[in-house]
Amino acid sequence: MTELRATCCVVGGGPAGMMLGLLLARAGVEVAVLEKHADFLRDFRGDTVHPSTLAVLDELGLLQAFLERPHDELQRLSGQVGDELVHIADFRGIPGVAQFIAIMPQWDFLDFLAGAAKAYPEFHLHMCAEAVDLIREGDRVAGVRAKTPEGDVDIHADLVVAADGRQSTLRERADLEVEDLGAAMDVLWLRLPRHAGDANAALGRLLAGRMMVLIPRGDYFQCAYLVKKGGADAVKAGGLDAFKRDIETIAPTMAGRTDGLKSWDDVKLLTVVIDRLKTWCAPGLLCIGDCAHAMSPVGGVGINLAIQDAVAAAGLLWAPLKDGRLALADLQKVQRRREWPTTTTQLGQILVQNAVIAPTLNGATPRPGWPVRLLSRAPWLQSLPARLVGLGVRPEHVRSPDAHVGARCIG
Ligand SMILES: Cc1cc2nc3c(=O)[nH]c(=O)nc-3n(C[C@H](O)[C@H](O)[C@H](O)COP(=O)(O)OP(=O)(O)OC[C@H]3O[C@@H](n4cnc5c(N)ncnc54)[C@H](O)[C@@H]3O)c2cc1C
Repeated sequence: MTELRATCCVVGGGPAGMMLGLLLARAGVEVAVLEKHADFLRDFRGDTVHPSTLAVLDELGLLQAFLERPHDELQRLSGQVGDELVHIADFRGIPGVAQFIAIMPQWDFLDFLAGAAKAYPEFHLHMCAEAVDLIREGDRVAGVRAKTPEGDVDIHADLVVAADGRQSTLRERADLEVEDLGAAMDVLWLRLPRHAGDANAALGRLLAGRMMVLIPRGDYFQCAYLVKKGGADAVKAGGLDAFKRDIETIAPTMAGRTDGLKSWDDVKLLTVVIDRLKTWCAPGLLCIGDCAHAMSPVGGVGINLAIQDAVAAAGLLWAPLKDGRLALADLQKVQRRREWPTTTTQLGQILVQNAVIAPTLNGATPRPGWPVRLLSRAPWLQSLPARLVGLGVRPEHVRSPDAHVGARCIG
């Protein structure tokens, strides 16, 4: 058994964990980030980097380098309801440093954060390290036990942050109560080729009983085909050819582009979950990101909420961690700060789910109501939903310092 020590041990190298690791190391806190996979390569993950996250990258002086990486920029969100095209959100009118959503594969984004974090000697990233249990001292969490190819490792820490996603091992080990808020759908993800001349906008298409969203990504569209909760098996039972025909009916512009779907292996199921922890923390343990609150894909806000949790946590915790005076009350402050933006966002997602998605999937003929028509005809109004989706209800700003600024200047 190997024994390691860090001031903070972050479990999970997703958006929440990598951003928190970067910010704490930047503030001079010794941090170990454990990621169970050997790399960040996972397809069909969230890849929408919203203006709120771009603003954080700007505050860290990283935005320009980030935007030099291959990406697409989405300025508008539209929907095709039956035969009617409606424009929902226009990011060009929102305040801040970025008036677009950057679309970048999540592994590139995580790789970028890892590269930035490695500049700090306090940052230690352990790949292939799967946290399997909590270490306790009395009633306090005092570290984690991880499995690695070299054997088990115990990492002792003043704080363990569970950023291990929606199927978190740590929140289960900590016996934290999860409230299931009820998702009405699941999503089948697939890729279809994108041609020169295709619109550079995310487009939702709604027909009675069917719904699909196409997100441009380089030379292909990442497509979300929505099914009723638990309905994926019935779609598969209908056969791949029927599925392809269905896609071409919903999105006629995709006619002839489904040949690349050779088997169901080319179609990935996302079981949608919307849930929230009642308590995000315990002595020595804090949950953030999807671990604290799994988000619906509506609005594509999961990554950005995870990042905002990390930014808020770093701002509130770097000083008590550095001074060795971290208390449960500090962790509760993080929950208090992030709970209402999470709750509000989830409520909005559930509203869209219940008013639009569930009736459409149940066979109702979708019709844009007058508020949607008004929105579509008044471009200046479209910055309001753009602001809600792009910046969220409580954007976070970097409040943790760069403890290395002086050292770098001297160096
Ligand atoms: C198919 C799909 C599509 C999505 N589309 C979008 C989108 O377009 N836009 C958007 O904003 N959001 C989207 N989301 C949601 C988004 O991906 C998540 O909300 C976001 O990634 C949450 O970040 P996180 O860091 O909290 O958790 P995660 O991204 O889930 O990261 C958790 C990390 O912890 C690691 N891990 C898990 N258990 C352990 C363990 N025991 N030990 C060590 N490491 C562990 C995992 O390997 C993973 O790297 C999508 C999600 C899915 C599944």
